[in-house]
Amino acid sequence: MARYTGPVCRLCRRLGDKLYLKGDKCYSPKCPFERRPFAPGQRSARRRKVSDRGLQLREKQRARAIYGVLERQFRRYYAEAVRRPGVSGDNLLRLLEMRLDNLLYRLGFADSRAQGRQVVLHEHITVNGRKAHTPSHVLKVGDVIGWTSQGQSSKYFQIVKEQLASKSPPSWLSVEEEKMIGRVLMQPEIEEIGAKFSSATVVEYYSR
Ligand code: SF4
Repeated sequence: MARYTGPVCRLCRRLGDKLYLKGDKCYSPKCPFERRPFAPGQRSARRRKVSDRGLQLREKQRARAIYGVLERQFRRYYAEAVRRPGVSGDNLLRLLEMRLDNLLYRLGFADSRAQGRQVVLHEHITVNGRKAHTPSHVLKVGDVIGWTSQGQSSKYFQIVKEQLASKSPPSWLSVEEEKMIGRVLMQPEIEEIGAKFSSATVVEYYSR
């Protein structure tokens, strides 16, 4: 369950876009990208022309940074996306969206995917009534996300519950606010995901 442990705001600056990896901070004036929207290190006076391959690589890195996935695992998602029927780029996006840490973020049970990951590792979350241990677990339609008794007695649970009314999950998920239970109703529509990268370009990168 390896993950990137470096400074995440550097990723936004390196990849040239706000990737919203830090929850509330991303929407505040404290966001480092707002103050320094250029790559870390010395600023080059000369803009280098980026090759097609370089652009594909950047899209792939952006996708990996957004979902917090390391290269080896990301390649596995690509292989699975190609194996499935349909458009490979859409399949890839849906696989990433169905990860447990992402679903917690989408449901409003976490402020970021990184926090979703942490909540799972703290053994606060159940999937279909069983304690979840793996943030990268890819869920299926019909799966139910809940809280362990340890999770329910945590301060974090109370905070999430109080703030949940102000959040609205996407149409492919539903939340029972009273019970703090989330459900996967269907596969996500690609347009609704609002991806900040081109999944088709990511597929082009790997298919060379
Ligand atoms: Fe990116 Fe959020 Fe950090 Fe801003 S605060 S640089 S959007 S991770």
